[in-house]
This record gives sequence, C-alpha cells and structure tokens, in this order.
Amino acid sequence: MVVTRFAPSPTGLLHRGHALSALTGWRLAKANGGRFLVRIEDIDTARCRPEFEAAIFDDLAWLGIDWETPVWRQSERGAAYAAALDRLKALGVVYACRCTRADIAAAVAAPHGAAGPVYPGTCRGRGLGGGGGAEGLAWRIDVAKALALTGPLDWHDAAAGRVVATPALQGDFVVARRDLGTAYALAVVVDDAAQGVTDVVRGVDLFDATHGQRLLQALLHLSTPRYHHHPLVLGPDGKRLAKRDGGETLRSLRGTGVTAAAVIAGLDAAAAS
Ligand code: GLU
Repeated sequence: MVVTRFAPSPTGLLHRGHALSALTGWRLAKANGGRFLVRIEDIDTARCRPEFEAAIFDDLAWLGIDWETPVWRQSERGAAYAAALDRLKALGVVYACRCTRADIAAAVAAPHGAAGPVYPGTCRGRGLGGGGGAEGLAWRIDVAKALALTGPLDWHDAAAGRVVATPALQGDFVVARRDLGTAYALAVVVDDAAQGVTDVVRGVDLFDATHGQRLLQALLHLSTPRYHHHPLVLGPDGKRLAKRDGGETLRSLRGTGVTAAAVIAGLDAAAAS
C-alpha cells in the first residue's frame, strides 16, 4: 500500500512549490490505490499560527486535493520524539551542545551557504548534559560515531536513483533544539515511520537533509521511505519561491482570479519542459 504525505509547516501561506509537492504526493497515492496524508509540522510553536494551518487546508481543498483525517500535528507528538531522543542517548550517539548561532558562526571561518555553517563539533567531547542538567541545551548527533554503529547506508530517490548516505556533509546536526526538545530531522523520521509513509514527496531543497534522516532511521530501526525530490518551482524572476514572497502565494493567485486548474496546468507544463 502506497502512503504519501504532505508535511507543511504553518509558518506562512502556501505557494506553487507547496502545490507541486502536495499534488505529486496526492497523485502518487491515487494512482496506486494508496493513502494520502497531510501532517502539520508545527513543532516551532513560536513561528506557527492557526490561521496559516486553516489556510493550508483551504488551499489544498481549492486545488481539489483530499486527505485523510484526523490530521496529525507534530505539536501533539512530543512524547514520541522524547522517546526517540532517549534511544539515541542510550546508544551514546548524541551530545549536548550549548553553542549559540553566533558561537558557531565565529568558530567557522569559511563562508557558508543558505543552510548555515557546518557545526565544527565544539561541544563534542565536552560531556555537557550529564547528570540530568541538560536544561537549555540542544542535542546534536555525533555523525561519525553513529555511522560507525550503523555501517554504510543508502536511500532511494526517484530521480537520482540509489544515493549513498553522506550525513557527514551536514556535520553534527541538531536532533533536539534547546527550546523545543526535538528538531525537524528527528520529528520527521519518527512520524514518517509511525504513519507508515512509503513515499516522501518534497522539494529538492530537502535532498541533503535526507542523508541525516536516513542515519536516524537506521539508528532508531525505523523504516525508510522512497524519496521523490522534485525541482523547485521558480518565480517569474527565476528565483525560488519562499513563504515571504507574498505575491506568489496560492492565496494571492486565487485573489487575482487565477483558477486552480490553471495553477495545476502551469506546474504540469513546467515539469514536462
Ligand atoms: N515541514 C517541512 C517544510 O515545510 C517539510 C518536511 C518534509 O516534507 O519532509 O518545509
């Protein structure tokens, strides 16, 4: 049974890139007699807003997409993420980290891309967070140690084929933020497995994040979905769409009289070209 999901964070209005992810996942499920889920990724409660969540459902329905209910919200899944973090701690593959963004930027001399600098491992071996005093600390995975435990890993992408997992490229990434007790990478693998997701459809901007997610799946003995990373949808200026580009949201297109059929036809034409 094919199970796909669309997993937006309600931090803004959806744009055509989200529409492509949702539509591709929904079509994949429908074509295979499978199930399509929507999961609200709202762990970052300070940035998420209920009106954006309502707008997500409204925009998806406008596109003609239907999904199963009840919808899972990551804000309600803290216990599952805490249990996963405990397992990683028991394996000895995570360490507490007190570095701020400024500390990391100062420690990393090389210029860095949009994803931020690769963590230089400052707190690895410091032994912070022992004795229960981990309050206010983030938790990072010791990628080298974790990989030594799992051995070589790979995953499958519909466009790229077999991909050898190289989580070290991202450095020791955060599995639990100091303010949230979890982080995107951990929450997403726990939920994809718990919901029986077989196929993850999302933008290619998350391709590199998959390496780390594959590592977490192996450590936690969670299933690994097939991945379908699609090209990013570009705006009229040739730049990638972002939630902050108000003029490019589905909501604003709809407001100017653009139909859902036209949006979908435009995405299909771009994919075919
Ligand atoms: N919640 C993530 C986002 O809004 C997507 C997560 C995923 O598809 O794995 O970018």
